[in-house]
Amino acid sequence: MSEFDLIVVGGGSGGVRAARIAAGHGARVALIEEYRLGGTCVIRGCVPKKLMVYASRFAQEFEEAAGYGWTLGDSHFDWGTLKARRDAEVTRLEGIYRNNLVGAGVQIFDGRARLHDQNTVVLADGTQLRGTHILIATGATPTQANDTKGHELAIDSNGFFDLEALPQRVVVQGAGYIALELACVLQRLGSSVRVVVRGDHILRGFDDGVRAHLLHELVESGLQFDFGRSISAISKTDDGLQVQLDNGELVNTDCVLRALGRLPNTLNLGLESLSIALDAQGAIPVDAYSRTVVPNIYAVGDVTNRVNLTPMAIREGHAFADTVFGGLPRSVDHSLVPTAVFTTPELGVVGLTEEAALLEHPHLDVYQATFRPMKATLSGHPGKMLLKLLVDRDTDRVLGFHGVGPDTGEMAQLVGVALQLQATKRALDSTLAVHPTAAEELVTMRKPSVQHGLVGAV
Ligand code: FAD
Ligand code: NDP
Repeated sequence: MSEFDLIVVGGGSGGVRAARIAAGHGARVALIEEYRLGGTCVIRGCVPKKLMVYASRFAQEFEEAAGYGWTLGDSHFDWGTLKARRDAEVTRLEGIYRNNLVGAGVQIFDGRARLHDQNTVVLADGTQLRGTHILIATGATPTQANDTKGHELAIDSNGFFDLEALPQRVVVQGAGYIALELACVLQRLGSSVRVVVRGDHILRGFDDGVRAHLLHELVESGLQFDFGRSISAISKTDDGLQVQLDNGELVNTDCVLRALGRLPNTLNLGLESLSIALDAQGAIPVDAYSRTVVPNIYAVGDVTNRVNLTPMAIREGHAFADTVFGGLPRSVDHSLVPTAVFTTPELGVVGLTEEAALLEHPHLDVYQATFRPMKATLSGHPGKMLLKLLVDRDTDRVLGFHGVGPDTGEMAQLVGVALQLQATKRALDSTLAVHPTAAEELVTMRKPSVQHGLVGAV
C-alpha cells in the first residue's frame, strides 16, 4: 500500500492549491480526482461561465457602436463555434493543472475516493492509499429538487455547459448567482428567457438598493420574471417542453434550467464510519484551521459550505498546507469577501450591505451615485450605473461598497484592498480621481444621500 504525508480528495480549487503548497513544503502528496482536474471552477463554473458572459456582451456592443459612427454588417452568432473554442480552452487549462501538480511532485490518482478509516482512502478500483493527513476538498454539486414532476427533463448548470445548441425559449428557475448569470448569457445570445422565482426578489442576502437597481436593469434589458411562483411539473410535448407553474399557467419552452443552490459533496465519502457528523446542509463542520473533529482529517472549500467561492477555497487550501506542513499556522478570515455577480450589467460587492451595517452601525451614512455611464451619451444605451458606499459616521470607516454596471466586479477587487486596509471616507476623498472614469465617483461623492441615526432624521 502506498504511503503519503497527505492524501487530498478532490482536484478542484481548494484541493489543487493545498496539494501543491504541501508538496512545496516537502510533503509526499497524493491527489485523487474522479472527474477532471481543475474542479467546478475550471471545468464547469467560473471560467467557462465568464467566457460565455464575454460572448453574450457583444450584441450590445454592436448596437452601441452605431452611435459612434460605425456601420456594421450582418452579425451572426454560432453556438457551436463558441462551445468548441470554450471547451478547448477548458481542456488547455486542465492540462496546465495536471502539469503543475506533477511538476510540484504530487502523485495524481484518477477515480472516485472513499475514506475507509482515519488514515486509509480507497479508490473505486480497489487501490488503497495510506496518509498521515487527509484533506477533503470534494466541492459541491447542483441541488436537484427531485420532487418536481418531470424534473429529469430539466438541466442544471452542468447541463448548461453541455448544451449543443442555443435554445430559443428558456425557463430558468432560481434567483441566485447561477440562475441570473446564465439567464443573462442565454438572453443576450438570443434566447427568450423567463425566470421563475419562488420569493419576491432576486439575490437574497445582497444589498436591497442594489437588488432593486439590478432587477430594474434586467427587466429593461428584456428578461421576464415570474415572482412568487414555482414549477409544479415539466412535461414533453410535440413543441419541446411544457412547464406548469403553481398557479396553473402553462409555459411552452425548449429548455428548463434549474439553479437552486448547491449541496456539499459528502455522499458516500465514508464519513459516517469516522464519526464526522454533517451539519444540516450536509457540509463538513471544521474549525478555524479547517480541521474536522478527527484531528488528522481536514476539509476546505465548498464541502464545508462557509463562503462558496473559488478564491476562498484556494485561500483555505493554502492556509491548511502552510499550517500543517509549513509550520506557519494560519486561519482564514471569512468576513471581508469581495464578490461579483456576472449578470449584464454586473454587480460588484465588498463589505456590509446597508441592512447589515445598520444592525451594528446606527450612525450610517449612505453615499450613492446613479448615473448614465459616459459611453452611453453617444451610444444612447438607457442603462444606468449605481455606485454606493456605506460609511460609519462615528469612525469615518468605509464599511461597504456595492456597484451595478460595467466593470463593477473589477472595482470590487480594488475597493476590497481599501476596506482590507480599513480605509476611511476621508482617505477615499483624498485620493485623486482618474478622469474620465466611472470609478472616479467613488472618490468624489461629497454628500450622503441618506444619513441614518441623525437626531431628528426620519
Ligand atoms: P470544486 O472545485 O468543486 O472541486 C471538487 C472536486 O472534487 C471536483 O473536481 C470533483 O469532481 C471532485 N470530487 C468530488 N467527490 C470526489 C470523490 N469522492 N473522489 C474524488 N474526487 C471527488 N466562484 C467564484 O469565485 N467566481 C465565479 O465566477 C464562480 N462562478 C461559478 C459558476 C458556476 C456555474 C458554478 C457552479 C460555480 C461557480 N463558482 C464561482 C463557485 C466555485 O466554482 C466554487 O466555489 C469552487 O470551485 C469550490 O472549489 P472546491 O475546491 O471547494 O470544489
Ligand atoms: P444561490 O444560493 O446563490 O441561489 C439559489 C437560488 O435558488 C435562490 O434564488 C433560492 O431562492 C432558489 N431556490 C433554492 N431552493 C429552491 C427550491 N426548492 N425551489 C425554488 N427555488 C429555490 O445558489 P446558486 O446555485 O445560484 O449558486 C451556488 C453558489 O455558487 C453561490 O451561492 C456562490 O457561492 C457560487 N457562485 C458564485 C458565482 C460568482 O462568484 N460569480 C457564480 C455562480 C455561483 P431563495 O433565495 O428563496 O432561497
